[in-house]
Amino acid sequence: MRTDTGQVFHLEDYKPTDFLIPETHLDFRLHPERTIVKSTLKIERREGVALDTPLILDGDELKLESICIDGVALGDNTYVVTPDRLEIRGLPEAETFTLEITTEINPTANRQLTGLYRSSNVYCTQCEAEGFRRITYYLDRPDLLSVYTVRVEAETSAAPLLLSNGNPGEKGTLDDGRHFAIWHDPHPKPAYLFALVAGDLGVITDTFTTASGRPVNLGIYVEHGKESRALYAMDALKRSMAWDEEKFGREYDLDVFNIVAVSDFNMGAMENKGLNVFNDKYVLAEPDTATDVDYAGIEAVIAHEYFHNWTGNRITCRDWFQLCLKEGLTVYRDHEFSADMRSRAVKRIAEVKGLKAHQFPEDAGPLAHPVRPRQFREINNFYTSTVYEKGSEVVRMIRTILGAETFRKGMDLYFERHDGDAATIEDFIKVFEDASGEDLSQFALWYDQAGTPNLAITYDYDQATKTFEIEIEQSLKPTPGQPSKKPMHIPIQFGLLGTKGREIRPRATKGGLVKDDVIHLRKRKERFTFSGITERPVPSLLRGFSAPVTMTSELTRSDLAFLARNDRDEVTRWQALTQLLNSKLTSNSKRVRGGKPATIESSSIRLLGELAFNNALDEAFRALCLNVPSESDIARELGANIDPEAILGSRDALILAVAEAHGEKFEQLYNELEHHGAFNPDAAGAGRRSLRNVLLDYLSVADGNPKRASKQFKQANNMTERAAALNVLVQRFGTSTATNDALQAFEARYGNDALVMDKWFVVQAMQPGESALGKVNELMKHQLFSLDNPNRTRSLIGAFSSGNQTGFNRADGKGYQFFAETILTIDKKNAQLAARLLTAMRSWRSFEPERREHAREALASIASVAGLSTDVRDIVERTLA
Ligand SMILES: [Zn+2]
Repeated sequence: MRTDTGQVFHLEDYKPTDFLIPETHLDFRLHPERTIVKSTLKIERREGVALDTPLILDGDELKLESICIDGVALGDNTYVVTPDRLEIRGLPEAETFTLEITTEINPTANRQLTGLYRSSNVYCTQCEAEGFRRITYYLDRPDLLSVYTVRVEAETSAAPLLLSNGNPGEKGTLDDGRHFAIWHDPHPKPAYLFALVAGDLGVITDTFTTASGRPVNLGIYVEHGKESRALYAMDALKRSMAWDEEKFGREYDLDVFNIVAVSDFNMGAMENKGLNVFNDKYVLAEPDTATDVDYAGIEAVIAHEYFHNWTGNRITCRDWFQLCLKEGLTVYRDHEFSADMRSRAVKRIAEVKGLKAHQFPEDAGPLAHPVRPRQFREINNFYTSTVYEKGSEVVRMIRTILGAETFRKGMDLYFERHDGDAATIEDFIKVFEDASGEDLSQFALWYDQAGTPNLAITYDYDQATKTFEIEIEQSLKPTPGQPSKKPMHIPIQFGLLGTKGREIRPRATKGGLVKDDVIHLRKRKERFTFSGITERPVPSLLRGFSAPVTMTSELTRSDLAFLARNDRDEVTRWQALTQLLNSKLTSNSKRVRGGKPATIESSSIRLLGELAFNNALDEAFRALCLNVPSESDIARELGANIDPEAILGSRDALILAVAEAHGEKFEQLYNELEHHGAFNPDAAGAGRRSLRNVLLDYLSVADGNPKRASKQFKQANNMTERAAALNVLVQRFGTSTATNDALQAFEARYGNDALVMDKWFVVQAMQPGESALGKVNELMKHQLFSLDNPNRTRSLIGAFSSGNQTGFNRADGKGYQFFAETILTIDKKNAQLAARLLTAMRSWRSFEPERREHAREALASIASVAGLSTDVRDIVERTLA
């Protein structure tokens, strides 16, 4: 573990390396506790670098065994070595030389899960961002590209499988029960893309022939016996490869593409060249073990990591400040892929929900940072929703501003101009400027200014002149380190709706720039005037959620209901409905406390019913409409003085009112949606199940008893319906016998499958109210639970702290206290995981005073501990600042 040194890194300090490493040869003698790594590096001094310049290599918890240059061992006075640094002086005068370094590492003791570690007897690596330096001393930075040749040697019986990046080469057996394999990757890459896997695993194989006729052998490696659960992932991989050729003209470039699923993994998955390593959660799926959400997640993550081969691997980042260059762009690409595979509008709404749930609170709190940060203390803490999801929104806005065709031209130019480069955001913007001839310098502020812009919108219709005027004022609140902001270029997709939802085309536009159906807001305050408008229109703004902003407008409740019923853009329909419901839910969340809940207006209840029963709409869309804003959505809208109990009361009151009003028709629809055929994870089947499952919740609330959920739980032939029923049982009837029976049945059925049991941990961690904490404590003693495993920890501690509004944010502060103690325990094992979990407290200032004080105390108790990891120290200090 790296304990905090207080060092802060700045974008402005970037300097290229003094030395290059054109070739890297690695030789691994694998051993559970004593793995020997011999690295042979061809080093090249850059032109103009003084001969007495030392070579300084990065390390982390390393033990140096030997070191030589051009075959001669170095004398003690020519180098200085510590576990995290190797400085070599007195280098040869020749322009190039060979450096040989031998280190010894212990993969079994490595619980940080970065570098080389062992998980369930499988050796595997995770090197992004700075894990390679835990394997050997190296110039561990993304702009140092090298051609790798790797020899892996291990005991044959323990590790019959030996994998690394690139194409397979020679392999053979040795006399002492060991064997070896050599891999060569012809594409120069940074160290963070290095990977090695060795162990005893099952495999499914397939082939893909690229557009130009290159055959590629595909392999997905999983625990023995779980091969059939990898078939969907394989299907998703082949669809991803074909899609990238068709939509972006990108072909795969090696003879093999391998994916390995491991059960101990800090992230979702990792795009190592030719050898992706995955959290098994994003590979394994069967109808009996995985939900529709799991299937969609697998499809998206498989695509994401595959797409990195071009956006990330062939064109990588110059430094870690540019992380969004590969992540924002690749998230954008995987979103487009999923939209093509499924319903585009439903996918887009899911993205918007995710952005609002995770990124908006980040932007509004103490951890706010620009899509491209300018400084960091620990890069691992910047794998954030802002870098990924907002980074993707920024790419999406470029496409909206330039149009699909010019956007594609810019992407082609990016691949052509920067293939093989370690690039920057400036390089990325430049290709679109060159492809379009437009100046994007104002737009580029999206990369540099943190926070979510708000648009205040006013309207004016003049019957006499038949003009309609929209005035928009943008504002952006201060964020840490950025007290004042400049106006941004915000693309607002729009339409004007007349009677019966007819689209009104303006004859002409005056004022700010309007192109096709996009308003380009570029000043702090701007007016857009449309002429030839014969009736007062209802404006539909931000169609498709064309920019990651919030809006306050003069639209009346009846305007919003009109949009929810009539707009042709489903994202706007959903947004209008959400806004209508939110305004009631938030005001009721203030009133419920100490008073009686306000009544829910019948017009909103009617509207929900209309949408739910509208057969012309996608079932998945209807389900999204019925999924009224969550407790954390309501909390986010409130922004301050939050009382989670009041929010829960307000939300439950709405659900009960809707259920009582539509009970009969809900029941009829619920029964109609029952499906008896074979399970299909496609969008249509998933949509039908999501609608049926949300109806189950309403009906159970109306019934006031667990019978219906209990029946669905018992009769379900797939995990989506089973898990949804279990969720209703725990959320609505937590202490009932039916709930206990279902929990026991689930455990009896899946008790040997830790990955599936994660769902069982999650559902109980989310049980509303004060009793949840006791439950979590009890489950921590369960034989399957372990704080060593990130998936288990996230399922229980993560779900509780980031998902259970009333249980975690207990009025007495006991939830926070427990969490602080647990974070300190996890920090000693896995600093990255601890820091990631701790971000659950980023919105602590928005609670009512009593909870706020308890939260502050808990955070202070973490901050007061000596010897914290850099990861946790960084998050806790920024959260308290
Ligand atoms: Zn990625």
